Amino acid sequence: MLDVAIIGGGPAGLTAGLYTTRGGAKEVVMFERGMPGGQITGSSEIENYPGVKEVLSGFDFMQPWQEQCFRFGLKSMQKDVMRISRLKNYFVIHTDKETFEAKSVIVATGGSPKRSGVKGEDQFYGRGISTCATCDGFFYKGEEVAVLGGGDTAIEEALFLSELCKKVTVLHRRDEFRAAPVTLQKAKAKANIEFLTPVLLDEILGDAKGVNGILYKYKDSQEQQKLEVNGLFIFVGYSVNNQILKQEDGSFLCEMTDAGEVKVDLNMNTNVPGLFAAGDIRIQAAKQVVCAAGDGARAALSALAYLEHHM
Ligand SMILES: Cc1cc2nc3c(=O)[nH]c(=O)nc-3n(C[C@H](O)[C@H](O)[C@H](O)COP(=O)(O)OP(=O)(O)OC[C@H]3O[C@@H](n4cnc5c(N)ncnc54)[C@H](O)[C@@H]3O)c2cc1C
Repeated sequence: MLDVAIIGGGPAGLTAGLYTTRGGAKEVVMFERGMPGGQITGSSEIENYPGVKEVLSGFDFMQPWQEQCFRFGLKSMQKDVMRISRLKNYFVIHTDKETFEAKSVIVATGGSPKRSGVKGEDQFYGRGISTCATCDGFFYKGEEVAVLGGGDTAIEEALFLSELCKKVTVLHRRDEFRAAPVTLQKAKAKANIEFLTPVLLDEILGDAKGVNGILYKYKDSQEQQKLEVNGLFIFVGYSVNNQILKQEDGSFLCEMTDAGEVKVDLNMNTNVPGLFAAGDIRIQAAKQVVCAAGDGARAALSALAYLEHHM
């Protein structure tokens, strides 16, 4: 039986692997459906990880993490985990063909921002299109950018960008916003945030250098207009990879939020003893590499304490 099963090989899962193995756990396996590294490997640049001065591609940035983790005995299996269930005081990890038993489990399956499906999105993703203002806002300092969306994330990120950028134009398909009224009020009070509603985004324009504009139309008039911007931030939802916690009867193995995130305490404990969650999958995640790594370390320390006191 494994001491710790880690599901997901992004920053949270890899850090959990480093801390559990280095902390003395013997049988630790990280299950990752693809190559380890997580969603950041799809990013062309990361420059906000403390201590790393160079601006690196996400892929290059994550490369040494794997080498470091495996040095202390972490084993990795390329497997797509289908489900985790609990039997007596241990867990069963179900993959498509096999099952594995583990005394404790750290769920670090992350998630991903939803795509808008607008023409030009795939072509310019990472070259003027971003889904993270905290990550990429700085690249547009003093410039004009647009934000697509009307939820809390979209308006909070528009506020963040308004501190860095010359002008932020928020495009939303409805007149009403899902964002909290107080956040919306703050955004509406900002001189450099303009709201365009109800509008539909038609196309993202650009050239070899990246995005240089967008085409949109008002829903009622259908008249197409052009906005010249170098950056478009898209916030049309976020999917958390929580399917593995779904049980055969449709319930979840542990307590979840309405948005499908795992509820944890500050030690990354779920309400099920021996089950921990870390990174973007958990409630109120900051959705940053440094935070996911911190969660992974905290979850690992909690798992080590659980093994010592309960098994
Ligand atoms: C384009 C982009 C740019 C970003 N830029 C920055 C930035 O500049 N700075 C920053 O701090 N953050 C950035 N982020 C956010 C950052 O990538 C995430 O916050 C971070 O990767 C979360 O780490 P995680 O380990 O929780 O999850 P993830 O990175 O999502 O890793 C989860 C892993 O679990 C695996 N997995 C999922 N389900 C299963 C399953 N059933 N079985 C097996 N494996 C599974 C996935 O394949 C994945 O590898 C960016 C994100 C994106 C998308």
